[in-house]
Formats: sequence, C-alpha cells, structure tokens
Amino acid sequence: MTASDDGRDAGTDARHGAGPGAGEEYDLVGVGIGPFNLSLAALADGVPGLSALFLEERPEFRWHPGLMFDDARLQVPFLADLTSLVDPTSRWTFLAYLRDRDRLFPFYFAERFHVTRREYEDYCRWASSALPSCRFDARVEAVAWDAARSRFVVEHVGAAGDRRRVLARNVVLGVGTEPVVPPSLAHLAGDRVFHAARYLDHRAGLAGARDVTVVGSGQSGAEVFLDVLRGAPAAERHVTWLTASPAFAPMEYSKLGLEHFTPDYTRFFRGLPAAVRDELVPGQWQLYKAISAETIADIHDLLYDRSTGGADPGATLRPGVVVTAGEAGPDGRILLRCRHERAGREFEHRTDAVVLATGYAARRPPCLAPVEHLVDWDERGRYRVAADYRVALDASVTGSLFVQNAEEHTHGVGAPDLGLGAWRSARILNALTGGTAYRLPERTAFTSFGAPPGAATDVVDAREPGHLTRGRT
Ligand SMILES: Cc1cc2nc3c(=O)[nH]c(=O)nc-3n(C[C@H](O)[C@H](O)[C@H](O)COP(=O)(O)OP(=O)(O)OC[C@H]3O[C@@H](n4cnc5c(N)ncnc54)[C@H](O)[C@@H]3O)c2cc1C
Repeated sequence: MTASDDGRDAGTDARHGAGPGAGEEYDLVGVGIGPFNLSLAALADGVPGLSALFLEERPEFRWHPGLMFDDARLQVPFLADLTSLVDPTSRWTFLAYLRDRDRLFPFYFAERFHVTRREYEDYCRWASSALPSCRFDARVEAVAWDAARSRFVVEHVGAAGDRRRVLARNVVLGVGTEPVVPPSLAHLAGDRVFHAARYLDHRAGLAGARDVTVVGSGQSGAEVFLDVLRGAPAAERHVTWLTASPAFAPMEYSKLGLEHFTPDYTRFFRGLPAAVRDELVPGQWQLYKAISAETIADIHDLLYDRSTGGADPGATLRPGVVVTAGEAGPDGRILLRCRHERAGREFEHRTDAVVLATGYAARRPPCLAPVEHLVDWDERGRYRVAADYRVALDASVTGSLFVQNAEEHTHGVGAPDLGLGAWRSARILNALTGGTAYRLPERTAFTSFGAPPGAATDVVDAREPGHLTRGRT
C-alpha cells in the first residue's frame, strides 16, 4: 500500500472477493470507456501491482457513431493516441496497432499524420478488446461510499439485467460530455429536429426534405452542413447554415496557438483565479469551437463548383444569428424565430428539418447520486478539480474520485483534447501510486504563459471573488 501526495490511501495491492455482496475489489475503477479512460486503462496496464477495472455500458468501443463520416479525420496527429505522448514504448500505441494489423508499410507510404476517425475508432477497439481491465456491456448505475469498509461500491448492470457490485479504493469518471439542445428548441426534438450527435441515425429520414437547416458552426456543424449539401443537388434541396458565432471561423492551428493544448498551459490556467478562468474560456472559442481549414475548403470548393455559370449553389450561410424560439407548423414545417445580433433585426425562417450542432457540455452522471452529498461542489455546481484531477470530497471519504474531461472550468480548453489524454492519465496514475508511475516532462511549450517568477502584481484571490490582494505570482 502506498500513500498519495495528499496523504490519502491509494493502494497498489489488489484483493479480490472482499466479503458478502462486495464482489471484486480494485485499486481503481473507471466509469466509461471513451478515449480518455481507455488511455488510463492502457497506461495502468504498465503499472506493476495496480489492479484496475473499467466499465462501459456499450457492448464494444464506439466513438461518436452519429458523426462517423467515412472521410472524417482526427484533428490531432496520430501521436495523440492512448499512450505515445507519455510512453511511446507502450504496447498500446497506434504504431503497435498498425504493426498488429500488418499496416505499417502502407501507413509509412501514406504519410498521414491525421488518420481517419474510423481508423482511430478501430485502434481504440483493438486496444479495448485486448486490455483485460476493460469490461463492456456494464452500465454503472451507482457509485456509493461505504464508510465502514472505506471503499467505493460501484454497481453495474448488463444488457440482460445481470447486476454486479465491485469495490474500489478510487474511482475515475470518464463518462464524456452530453449533447446540448437549446432550451428554446427542446420541445421540438424528434425526427425533424435533432442534435448532430445523432445525425447519421437520422440522415436517411432527411431524404425527402427540400429545406434543411443546420444550427451551429463548430467542426460538427461544418461536417453536417457539408454532408447535407452533398446529399442532394441544389435543385432538390436548399441548405441553410445559421450560427450565433460572428463568423464561420477556422480553428486555430498555428504551432504556437496549439501550445494552449500543453501541460504548461493547463498548469498556468489551473493557477488562475476562478473568476478569471470563467472569463477566459468563452473568449478562446476559436481554439476549440471553430472549423478545420480542410473542412472550410471542402465546403467552399463544393459551393464554388455548384455555382459554375452563375447557378444557385442551393445554400445560405448566415453567421451572427441567434435562434431564439421554434415551433412546428400544421404543415409539418418548422418555424425558427431568429435574431441577427449585429444588425439588431428579428426574422423568421421556415424549414423542413433542423440539425442542432449546438455543442456538448460536461455531464453529472446519474450514477453519482449516492455520493453527490459528499462532493464539494463549487458555487456553480461544478466539481472542484485539483491539479492531479482529484475531485474535492468531504474529508470523511478516504478514497479518491478523479474526473477526465469534466474539468474545462479548472484546467482549460485542453480538457476534451485527445493530445492531453495520455498526460492526464499519467498524472492520475502518479497521484494514485504516490510516486512516478510515469515520468512527465517539466517543460512542454516554448511560450511562458505566466508572469516571470517573483513579479509583483495585483491578483484576485480565488477564495474571495472580487477581492483584490496585493501579492506575488
Ligand atoms: C465527433 C467528434 C469528433 C471529435 N474529434 C476530436 C479530435 O479529432 N481530436 C480531439 O482532440 N478531440 C476530438 N473530439 C473531442 C473529444 O476528444 C471526444 O469527445 C472524446 O470522445 C472524449 O472522450 P471521453 O472519454 O471523455 O468521452 P466519450 O468518448 O464520450 O466516452 C464516454 C463513454 O462513457 C460511457 N458511459 C457514460 N456513462 C456511463 C455509465 N454510467 N456506465 C458505463 N459507461 C458509461 C459512454 O457510453 C461512452 O462510451 C471530438 C468530439 C466529437 C463529438
């Protein structure tokens, strides 16, 4: 047994069958197997003596199936795989997967730094089906704290209704984010108005739609707009693309801009007062809520080709527009009430179907209900997340609860980025073992994000919002 850096028991000795009804016992139980908990499973596999179990409700690994377009590429280089940026010698790297599939030579000639999402999913499926700690068809329904045993009790159920309980010294939530539907349109949700996360499930149903509207201009919105546009010739369908953003803007992809997705920036951001962090993130939308230059080019190429000879390309692209309300008409059409922000004008837009590419938000999973009263929520009902991704809990809880991809408000825009996944997993493993399960680099960016050491400045004390303290940073 080892102690973690804040003195809590972490433990590296696995014990199984810990008493009646208890089931198995693990040092670490992960809820959800998306890329982030899978990275943790892969890196935990190399830590001697650490027992881990990861539970996923789906029957096998899937990665955003509703948006799995054939040609869609990863927006990060393949090195942002499960382990490489921490341990390129791991047997769970993307290159190891290629070797296993006998695809190293074709990959070498392809010179493809950004692989398709389909191949990335296949890679993750390969890893998750070989890692002994991954258990599928296991929906976690409850995470409770058993004070008498000083263990979390994680209850999960399979598709056949079989219910099991395991004990965990520590729990890591990797449940991903949830699609956001604007409240003003939630009552319309169905086959004709749906979130982009389910786009491919609904695509066939759009076949007869003469007018389709896409709302939102992140990468998903752009991919959906392009796909709807390709789905029918201009004479048969008009596609409208509305977004509240001031422009259909490219994702920041310059080399120094990308340094916002480094551990260095994460550390800097985490050290800022909460009020400053909350102000900063929305202003950084172009770092993570914009569109890849390739997709913008594909869209422009298509519109250009369609407009040859002065033809109508069959599309309207209108930024700066907020959809304020919607209603379904008796004719089955959808009426959207819109406001052009800069022009200060209201208008109505009639359409046959609406795809809401309106983003994702951190979720508070229902399985957490039994321990919610033990979580020290911040004033906005969010987790307080320590530098090592540990959630602040009541002092009576001696185990740790970690989160992955639920800490944008404390760790910055890199939280959902695949490039930081392996590093975050290693941080968690180092915290759990109280040592250096993985050696991590001191410096990861050329940019110095903070003030120079010793610089005197006015800082806002995070514990007393609005209170100015003279201090040193
Ligand atoms: C279409 C799309 C493409 C993206 N592409 C990129 C990219 O190229 N590069 C990049 O850096 N980022 C990308 N992202 C952002 C981000 O990296 C991904 O969203 C990533 O999947 C997040 O991983 P995750 O592990 O947090 O969650 P998820 O992938 O959502 O996985 C969470 C898993 O938890 C399971 N789960 C939830 N609740 C339970 C429960 N109670 N019990 C058991 N299982 C449960 C879910 O079934 C799911 O499988 C993309 C996002 C989207 C939507």
